Amino acid sequence: MNNAGPSTQMPNGHNKMCPSSHCSDGAILLGVVGPQGVIYREQRTRVDAAFVEAASQIGNPEKRFRFANKCVECGCKQWANGKCNVIETVMGHYPDESSQGSELPKCSIRDTCRWFSQAGRAACMICPRIVTDCREDIAQASG
Ligand code: SF4
Repeated sequence: MNNAGPSTQMPNGHNKMCPSSHCSDGAILLGVVGPQGVIYREQRTRVDAAFVEAASQIGNPEKRFRFANKCVECGCKQWANGKCNVIETVMGHYPDESSQGSELPKCSIRDTCRWFSQAGRAACMICPRIVTDCREDIAQASG
């Protein structure tokens, strides 16, 4: 892993970061999924190919970590009506949680986060509850 340094993103709505991206070489390690929610890294750090390989050895990394990467907007199936629908949907399911709390998570991408740009602090209140890959592991029948 290596430190990503300060953001060079343009403040124009494009070039935002998706805070629920895949584990890939160059992605930012946003945090680790813990029993009480995501534990965020304060320092912006990118993962490398070695991390991706190691993390993939024991199941889908997106179940255990959160990654951030460039928001591809209309290149993503979650993009509709000019925005990301993920955070709107989650906030709709948990309206109480997204309005509670006062201290924002100490996350490293707030200045460029797509969800924060859309929903402000309410997004940050629910964000620790979001796991990118929440599918159940499916045991394969072995015959
Ligand atoms: S929603 Fe808030 S806490 Fe979550 S990644 Fe974006 S800025 Fe960070």
